[in-house]
Amino acid sequence: MYMAFRRPLSKKLRFEVLKRDGYVCQYCGHGAPKVVLHIDHIVPVARGGSNDIENLVTACEACNSGKRASFHDDQLGEVIALRKKVEQLEEDILLLRQEREIFRDNALSSAEQICNSYDLDLAPVDFNFLWEAIFQLGYSEVNNAFACAEYEVGGSPSDIWRAAVDNMRKVARSNGVRL
Ligand SMILES: [Zn+2]
Repeated sequence: MYMAFRRPLSKKLRFEVLKRDGYVCQYCGHGAPKVVLHIDHIVPVARGGSNDIENLVTACEACNSGKRASFHDDQLGEVIALRKKVEQLEEDILLLRQEREIFRDNALSSAEQICNSYDLDLAPVDFNFLWEAIFQLGYSEVNNAFACAEYEVGGSPSDIWRAAVDNMRKVARSNGVRL
């Protein structure tokens, strides 16, 4: 007869599992101090499950004992896989937010650059429009709108600005972008 030998988990390993799982039960999402957290074997020791960290999961008392029995192992695996996917998506979202921030910052310095080269002294609302236009349309489209405006109306910065706004709106409309 096969007898599973349950080796106690080291404190270090328990801590690693808790840290990996963000100190919340991986089945119900509750965390301390609301619930007492245990380390659970995904594949039970009685069925040959090991003490490898991949086979260990943070579980609250309720999920570890009572509810645990109503879960099938494949469902547990699914829950864990989904949680991992969610984590990955959260990381992706964070990266996209950071990229967006960088893009916004670049648009801001491009807007300042255009103001300098066309000698524009824009009101805050107009400057925001320019910044948004660069963010939405890209710097080269906006630069082009100004170059065309200068060619069309020449003269004063305020004339160039008005014509450039018209040009940027035209480009936005043809791209289906709201400006
Ligand atoms: Zn739980």
